[in-house]
Amino acid sequence: MDCIFCRIAAGEIPSTKIFEDDQVLAFYDASPQAPVHFLVIPKTHIGSVQEVDAGNSGMIAHIFEVIAGIARQLDLDNGYRVVTNVGDDGGQTVGHLHFHVLAKRKLAWPPG
Ligand code: AMP
Ligand code: ZN
Repeated sequence: MDCIFCRIAAGEIPSTKIFEDDQVLAFYDASPQAPVHFLVIPKTHIGSVQEVDAGNSGMIAHIFEVIAGIARQLDLDNGYRVVTNVGDDGGQTVGHLHFHVLAKRKLAWPPG
């Protein structure tokens, strides 16, 4: 298996997990672009939004339920962004569907 996110989902590559169930995994982005930046992925391999169809779209709905739940857990009351890149021209670098969740909220530590 040469897909890095399949390997993270299988536990073969470590990640800082936030949430996991039988279908999805949420973990912190290794190169955060905002004070809060995590990724939510399906455990099954879907290449990108461009591969979403009637057979797997229920997974997308579930991912958004999970995002809303994590946002409550992390107290992102002031809002956040959800971003998914598709293909080379969309800036996608990992070919396994993932939703970035980013928030500008300042962390309590370090101060300032
Ligand atoms: P994209 O450019 O939309 O495909 O986003 C890929 C994201 O995956 C980037 O933000 C990377 O920082 C992140 N990433 C790549 N490898 C890892 C990893 N092993 N653990 C956590 N995040 C990763
Ligand atoms: Zn994969």
